[in-house]
Amino acid sequence: DAAVDLHDVRKTYQMGDQTVHALDGVSLTIPQGSYTAVMGPSGSGKSTLMNVVGCLDTPTEGVVEVDGVDVTTLSDAERTALRGDEIGFVFQTFNLMPQQTARENVELPMTFQGVGRTERRERADDLLERVGLADRLDHKPNELSGGQRQRVAIARALANDPAIILADEPTGNLDSETEAEILELFEELNAAGNTLLVVTHERVVAEHAERIVHLFDGELEDIERIDQRRIAG
Ligand code: ADP
Ligand code: ADP
Repeated sequence: DAAVDLHDVRKTYQMGDQTVHALDGVSLTIPQGSYTAVMGPSGSGKSTLMNVVGCLDTPTEGVVEVDGVDVTTLSDAERTALRGDEIGFVFQTFNLMPQQTARENVELPMTFQGVGRTERRERADDLLERVGLADRLDHKPNELSGGQRQRVAIARALANDPAIILADEPTGNLDSETEAEILELFEELNAAGNTLLVVTHERVVAEHAERIVHLFDGELEDIERIDQRRIAG
């Protein structure tokens, strides 16, 4: 089964008398449990692809299915609800709530989805333990290192057990040692069955995935298989 399925997805923007094809007929299946990287030059459509897969934006044409649901037929409210259930976002700049503790940050998406207080707390603590932060539950973001902040963000992305984790340059603000730790965590999460889609301009980051989707001018230029899986640890 596919976590996400794109059928001939187009996204166009009208700029005066010019039509920009941000996505120009992209078809892509992201199987459950797969680990995919997206690469491409600036302007090739990477952000647009992430926004469409993440249900932040709807395509001009084509079908986007998330966990079997055609999101292009949903109302804005339905799409927002589906996003909260099925998509976990990880950003380059972490995007944590600065006044809230690690635990509270991880609880937040569960609060939005109506999970009760006790279950929320237990699950947040479990997730923070899974990302190696069992001893940092009550720390606020500014009391954590960059790598630890990204671990909190990853725990938060996992909170509602999403169909897919979307990560946009997740190691762009980290030093190379911390980057390696986060990539190792991604490999562990993928080995545990999580589906990952990671946008990066760094080849070394992309090579941790099973395959690299290369975008060019809004088109899927190539899908490159990565055979040499690195072994975590
Ligand atoms: P990337 O993330 O690979 O840099 P984007 O998806 O941001 O590429 O952009 C793809 C193309 O679509 C670019 O030519 C960009 O200028 C254009 N584009 C993206 N968003 C908009 C928008 N809101 N309005 C007009 N053009 C846009
Ligand atoms: P790193 O060297 O990994 O970037 P730091 O040297 O910033 O991390 O922090 C080392 C440890 O101290 C981290 O585990 C972090 O949780 C903790 N820490 C950092 N800053 C603070 C702070 N302001 N208050 C409390 N703990 C902190």
